[in-house]
Amino acid sequence: MDREGLAGVPRFGHITEEIIGELKRVVGDRYVLSNDDSRRAYARDKAPRIWDRAADAVVLPGSVDEVCAVIAVANRERIPVVPRGAGSGLSGGCVPILGGMTLSLERMNAILEYDGENRTITVEAGVLTNDINVYLEETPFYYAGFPMSIQDCMIGGNIATNAGGGKAVKYGVTGNHVLGVEIVTPEGEAVTLGGKNRKDVTGYDLKSLIIGSEGTLAVITKATLSLERKPAATRSALLFFGNNGLAAEAVVRIMSLGPHPASLELMDRRAFSACCLYTGKNLDLNDAECVVLVSYEEDSLEAAFGRLSGAVSAVADLTVATPVIARDSQQEEYIWTIRKALAEANHLYGSVEVTGEDIVVPFAYMPPFIERLGEIESRHEGIMITNCGHAADGNLHTTIHRMPGLRDDEWTRSIRLVKDEIYGEMRKIGGKLSGEHGIGSNRVDDFSRLADPVEMKLLMAIKKSIDPNGIMNPGTIFPLEQ
Ligand SMILES: Cc1cc2nc3c(=O)[nH]c(=O)nc-3n(C[C@H](O)[C@H](O)[C@H](O)COP(=O)(O)OP(=O)(O)OC[C@H]3O[C@@H](n4cnc5c(N)ncnc54)[C@H](O)[C@@H]3O)c2cc1C
Repeated sequence: MDREGLAGVPRFGHITEEIIGELKRVVGDRYVLSNDDSRRAYARDKAPRIWDRAADAVVLPGSVDEVCAVIAVANRERIPVVPRGAGSGLSGGCVPILGGMTLSLERMNAILEYDGENRTITVEAGVLTNDINVYLEETPFYYAGFPMSIQDCMIGGNIATNAGGGKAVKYGVTGNHVLGVEIVTPEGEAVTLGGKNRKDVTGYDLKSLIIGSEGTLAVITKATLSLERKPAATRSALLFFGNNGLAAEAVVRIMSLGPHPASLELMDRRAFSACCLYTGKNLDLNDAECVVLVSYEEDSLEAAFGRLSGAVSAVADLTVATPVIARDSQQEEYIWTIRKALAEANHLYGSVEVTGEDIVVPFAYMPPFIERLGEIESRHEGIMITNCGHAADGNLHTTIHRMPGLRDDEWTRSIRLVKDEIYGEMRKIGGKLSGEHGIGSNRVDDFSRLADPVEMKLLMAIKKSIDPNGIMNPGTIFPLEQ
């Protein structure tokens, strides 16, 4: 990959010894990793198709002032800047594919203010998301954002990807919890967008523009988050279905019942079995081809059980086996341990290579869509398709596996055809390429092929007006040659 940059934008600059010296004067010698193997620890994320490139320098600022000063140097010298949280992303978004500078937020991990009266918490971007809830343990509130990677990702990364997760159906995605953000612009200026207000139409909604911008518009340095009251009780059940379509049908039915569940997750037989194997959990699938996990968070145990039994009976005629209902918190933990292992269990399918999709469709259109995926698999030899995901959001983490025996040229041809067929079905029903992981660098080609040209023109115009030198995360969301 060369360093051409975006159209009309000068070539990117290189990090010289003088610039390294300048950066060290800003953040301190030990917080600029340049000639060091430790840069390699920042070279990739968790995407299945791994980009692997270390930045020329990894810079670890400790304050917003330091971020401003570092970005000002990068902008002056036209050096690509890739903001990085915990590197748990699944789209290659924090991989510095042109080299340049990785800007890690890991030192900016302070919890700044808990405000129980306004039900907010203000944190620096490098706080591990789960640590917010650890901090809130003694309070009546909690942060309801729940990406499955909650223990391994940072709140800044969640905001930059507008992460979804297992409770978005009830509480919304990350953006729904963000009341304010402090950012540093590509020109090195800090500004706070939003604050603790619950409403704000004072000018354009710039805060929402930053949410999900994947490090291409600004560095997020701080956030004020809205908190939820802790539920008194959670109860979950596993429901078993004879095929994926019936499971998706059950999801639609459950979504039509009263208040939404907290979680409604789907795992096909292969995904579920791999997770059981990975976690050492032994749950009989009976003859099921697909499993749905449903959870309710309510004000009392009675209410949670009541809602759960309503859901179980509403779909009873679609199931093939008796549901597994968690009777206590140990059983809750047991069921959720299986679900949480989906990413780690990916290597147990025997596949040679995989591509991880993040398709989202209107949830009521999922039953026929998921059946089409089965048909697509049957048309392509050497390809296996597994499905799991946040079903209530219509968000499917469909994985396309290259099985042993498929030659390189066959895989290259098949993967293009399979993706085209899947995306064709997705578009027919108004679906989109990414529900929560973002475009990153992995989906750039597919996004530019599928996006409406007018939408792309607007996106590019926004990018160019905020980041005229194109230094922020080049190669993410937009192709380099545009
Ligand atoms: C096991 C597993 C389970 C997962 N489950 C979910 C899930 O349920 N839902 C979901 O949505 N995702 C999930 N993910 C994906 C990932 O955890 C999320 O995308 C998460 O939000 C990334 O956070 P991070 O701190 O690791 O960010 P990184 O991976 O470091 O970065 C992600 C993107 O955000 C940008 N970025 C990071 N920090 C900043 C900042 N401070 N300012 C500006 N830009 C920034 C980066 O440049 C990059 O483009 C999962 C990943 C794994 C490995």
